[in-house]
Amino acid sequence: MNQYFVPASSEHQKKEKAKARELRISQWWKGQLAKGLCYHCNERFHPSELTMDHLIPIARGGKSDRKNCVPSCKECNSKKGYKTRAEMAMEELEKKTLSDPDEEK
Ligand SMILES: [Zn+2]
Repeated sequence: MNQYFVPASSEHQKKEKAKARELRISQWWKGQLAKGLCYHCNERFHPSELTMDHLIPIARGGKSDRKNCVPSCKECNSKKGYKTRAEMAMEELEKKTLSDPDEEK
């Protein structure tokens, strides 16, 4: 069970997707891409290789605003899918705990 999963209404998703389209053509977003940095792995990329990523996915109630939209390389974006950063961090922790036999003594 995942108590954090609250599916957003399709109305919300429609609205925020439309906002994301507008944000993508904004000067602000072009400036973000021009930096050429992936928000997640901090690697440098050509602006054409970066995509817009929502920190909180629209499907989870996230908004298409400047706080929630970050440039992400394709690899990080596909790795992330519908998970939030908090969930990814939790998974990393779980993996570490499981793969570390010293913890079980
Ligand atoms: Zn990346």
